[in-house]
Amino acid sequence: MIRNLNIVSLIVGVIGISLQAYAYRKNQADWLPEREGADTLLKVGAVLVIIALGVYARMKGRNILFGLLGLLSIIGLLGLLFQQSKCHHCKRMNAWNTKECPDCGAPTALGWKPPPDEE
Ligand SMILES: [Zn+2]
Repeated sequence: MIRNLNIVSLIVGVIGISLQAYAYRKNQADWLPEREGADTLLKVGAVLVIIALGVYARMKGRNILFGLLGLLSIIGLLGLLFQQSKCHHCKRMNAWNTKECPDCGAPTALGWKPPPDEE
């Protein structure tokens, strides 16, 4: 589950941030018709970043509403990164950089590794 959430979060997040960057560039154009649609693209990009951060929060065992930190763009991303993560197995709260739950030994979002046959 952690792996799928990680992949979804990364793909949606990259698309969202790329859309926002493209819309920002578009908004800088001198010629008015070139700026058309930039605001819509910015909003769509923001929604995608919020979804991506929500999925990332789920990966850390946290509430999906943490995705709203996406409204703060890169600051929200860093804020979420340094949030404590909750063990998917025993629900213990661990420091953001914990790789393995000290109570039950389950891997956290950071400590997850593919099984040997997938490497
Ligand atoms: Zn645990």
